[in-house]
Amino acid sequence: MERQTVTKVPKPATRNHSVQRQSAAPSSPSHRITELQRSIGNQATQRLINSPFIQAKRAPQQIQRVVEVRPPGRGEASAFDRRDELIARMNAISAATDFTLDGRVIRFAERAGGVANNFEQQMRALITRAEVLPMRLITSAGTVGGQNILVDFFDEGYVDLDDLLASDDLGFQLNLIHFLTERANARNYEHRMGTRFPDPEFDRAHRAGSDAEAELLRNVIGDPTIRFNYEERRPNGTAVLAFRSNEGYRVFKVFRGAGQARRHSVIFVQTRDGRRLTVDQLRAERAAAAAPAPAAPAPAPAAPVPPGAPGPELP
Ligand SMILES: [Zn+2]
Repeated sequence: MERQTVTKVPKPATRNHSVQRQSAAPSSPSHRITELQRSIGNQATQRLINSPFIQAKRAPQQIQRVVEVRPPGRGEASAFDRRDELIARMNAISAATDFTLDGRVIRFAERAGGVANNFEQQMRALITRAEVLPMRLITSAGTVGGQNILVDFFDEGYVDLDDLLASDDLGFQLNLIHFLTERANARNYEHRMGTRFPDPEFDRAHRAGSDAEAELLRNVIGDPTIRFNYEERRPNGTAVLAFRSNEGYRVFKVFRGAGQARRHSVIFVQTRDGRRLTVDQLRAERAAAAAPAPAAPAPAPAAPVPPGAPGPELP
């Protein structure tokens, strides 16, 4: 996801050494945030050292070993006891994969009779990577630096289970694939979690997450030309992620409700001629256009966007 604004505070000039970073601006907000992150990071590291999964990770016969759920720090708004809700949702949208929790580790097995969709394929690939990808589960009451988290918080490894589960199935898939791919694209994420990652590294990882979303959309819609287009944070705090097809339509993923603890994504399509469709309506239109005559009746058109309206019309 987008990085939270809390990480956008002015940074001390010296960033490559933690001791210098601490002394650079002892009373600044960034200092306090850094302290928070460092504190949490140390706790996480200590928990990891004490964890039995270190041994599991080193076992040579382990192949699936990497995507883990974990509790946040002591006293934080933990959703760890609801971890089964995450697994249940993943299974509900999978056709050929059974996800299970083995302690804190998410594993998968093939489910007979189905064909794995792109979400399942990407999840399987993430699970069989060498790197450990932790998810520290919190509720929507969890904050960083006093601010609510939008789905996830990269530096700390947080995942807001309430936000994640609040989106519809496609949004859930896109958001989960995004931040796990993001974490997989940061070198040694597991052990650096709890520190502040350099902006260029985060930006690169974030872009990989958006590209993974585009891959999922290409598969869901059946259009190999869909690419990540742009993202923006509107003045009212609404977050927009846009994907574009060579056919001229765009797919938007939008998070409204800035400032609210629980936020979910809404996904819609804006056609070249300015109509707004659901993804299912787009699929139906494309299927009808591709079918030999006599074509299936077109779905009812969605409410048109006023001509000349720039971009998606958002409240
Ligand atoms: Zn991201």
